[in-house]
Amino acid sequence: MKKKADTQLIELRCEHCGQIKAALLGWLKEHDELSCDCGQPIVVRANDLVDAVKRADAFERRVAV
Ligand SMILES: [Zn+2]
Repeated sequence: MKKKADTQLIELRCEHCGQIKAALLGWLKEHDELSCDCGQPIVVRANDLVDAVKRADAFERRVAV
């Protein structure tokens, strides 16, 4: 069974242009970087993913109750 967390949409900010790009957590785990519209890569850091998942979980709990 696929873990539900992998279908969570994670937002990452481009350090070069400030644009927010979103990708699925499952995809980010398998890629080192996400290409931004400005042409620069957004490096995917494990710590960023952990923080993003925590935020998403907290948000989900607030909505569910
Ligand atoms: Zn950019």
